[in-house]
Amino acid sequence: MDIRIGNGYDVHALAEGLPMWLGGVRIPSEYGFVAHSDGDVAIHALCDALLGALALGDIGHLFPDTSPEWKGIDSKILLGKVVALIASQGWRVGNADITIALQRPKLAPHILTMRSVLAEVMGIPVDAVSVKATTTERLGFVGRGEGCEVWASALLVRP
Ligand code: MG
Repeated sequence: MDIRIGNGYDVHALAEGLPMWLGGVRIPSEYGFVAHSDGDVAIHALCDALLGALALGDIGHLFPDTSPEWKGIDSKILLGKVVALIASQGWRVGNADITIALQRPKLAPHILTMRSVLAEVMGIPVDAVSVKATTTERLGFVGRGEGCEVWASALLVRP
């Protein structure tokens, strides 16, 4: 069995009055992410981890923000396309681990829903998808509520 590991990182700025999509879930908040897509920074980092494992570039390369095709798109669709791409090369997702840094709102009530949604899109069990959230103790751009930062790791397996 072959295994590959990948990591991904993404940041999006917050702005008042936009919908907040994170980990495939709509989070109740007065702030949302500035983006060409729906701004789901957690899914973007996850996609980059999956692509990175196979050295397939990044989502900005696959789905350019200059293309009207991807404007406002549900990032779950992008994740589905990335999983299909890696599956076309004989790989499947073993597990994924995501860390979200956001000052507010608190994400704890939404973590299990995010894991379930992401697991369903990737076609893997919920216990193979970890989502963790932290504040940055009011330090830095995350702590000032200016943006959200996400790191993701993923393991791919090929029987
Ligand atoms: Mg992004």
